[in-house]
Amino acid sequence: MTDKLKLDTLLTRVGRDPQSHYGAVNTPVVRTSTVIHPDVASYESVDPNDYKAMRYGTLGTPTTFALEDAIARLEGGHAAVALPSGLAAISAALCAFAKSGDHLLISDSVYGPTREFCERRLKPFGVEVEYYDPLISSGISALIRPNTAAVFCEAPGSLTFEMQDIPAIAAAAHAKNVPVLADNTWGTPYFFQSFEHGVDVSIHAATKYIVGHADALLGVIVTTEPYWLKVRRCVADFGFCVSPEDCYLALRGLRTLGVRLKHQMESALEVARWLTTRPEVLRVLYPALESDPGHALWKRDFSGAASLFSVILKPVARESVAVLIDALKVFSIGVSWGGYESLAIRADVRKIRSATRWNPGGPLIRLHIGLEDPDDLIADLEQALARMNAPA
Ligand SMILES: *Cc1c(COP(=O)(O)O)cnc(C)c1O
Repeated sequence: MTDKLKLDTLLTRVGRDPQSHYGAVNTPVVRTSTVIHPDVASYESVDPNDYKAMRYGTLGTPTTFALEDAIARLEGGHAAVALPSGLAAISAALCAFAKSGDHLLISDSVYGPTREFCERRLKPFGVEVEYYDPLISSGISALIRPNTAAVFCEAPGSLTFEMQDIPAIAAAAHAKNVPVLADNTWGTPYFFQSFEHGVDVSIHAATKYIVGHADALLGVIVTTEPYWLKVRRCVADFGFCVSPEDCYLALRGLRTLGVRLKHQMESALEVARWLTTRPEVLRVLYPALESDPGHALWKRDFSGAASLFSVILKPVARESVAVLIDALKVFSIGVSWGGYESLAIRADVRKIRSATRWNPGGPLIRLHIGLEDPDDLIADLEQALARMNAPA
């Protein structure tokens, strides 16, 4: 029955079972390290491959299992595991697949710390890491070698928002028996159904929209059935575990994920469209805009867009960009996103590219649009642009 429900209804139902918790609406926070057994037979009957049973605190409690089950059901995967951060989810997923002598294909537009993990940890362990053009599509086939352990995608790319043709990449990778891992933080389990598009292992920084209130750090890996034990065992081997309070916060955030995402997308489109009309703006990098080169792919594969995009300004002095950002009063300056508040940062992407060249023609500002009234956000940007344009 629940499999046929629409996502908005599922968001209210997944990850809870009131009758197993005294009728309480929400799954309570269950804390424990030790799990007590009634007798020796029970203690010795533990199945080492059953990661959804109460075995030891590091492997989760009913609060953790509720969140993991909720996200796996929403995204349509076999099972999920929660981790202490989005980056921990990325590093654990990569370690589950790559061993010494293997080759990994990583999108050139990945989240910066993903690249740093590959450079500083995987390469010294003897893993060959090759970055590919995010727009490669089925051309990935030519880069796959006999020792390629995985293809890692992220759509759209961090900071630069290039869309990837994930179904084409997955078809090419699967033809050579290579699994596809994807960072689906921007897409969320609500706007991008990874497994319907060929992804084998989907990774989320739940810190962002799932927690949604900038008050907990959490990662989640969701897999198809064939890769579940491989990934889950790797997470257990590292001893990664999460606080049940943080899982509770993520479950609470999940209930409003749909309304927040849809509302924030509408505001983001309004702000992005306004920015495209400004003389100071060269381009807005946001696949939800009709003018974006990734728009057709986004429209084909995604049911919505996160409220995170970048703006390329026409060339101005570096100090002028700081004047603009410092003048913002409704937007705050800071990283992370997916919360209720709007954020702005600038970033120089040129030094974090190796397979492709990034030269957009002006400075980049990344904006996260929160739950404020978009009229106030536009007015804030307007006065900040005026401040930037004013003679010093
Ligand atoms: C923030 C982010 C992460 C990392 O999540 P943390 O919980 O902050 O470690 C991973 N991928 C993307 C795309 C992100 O934006």
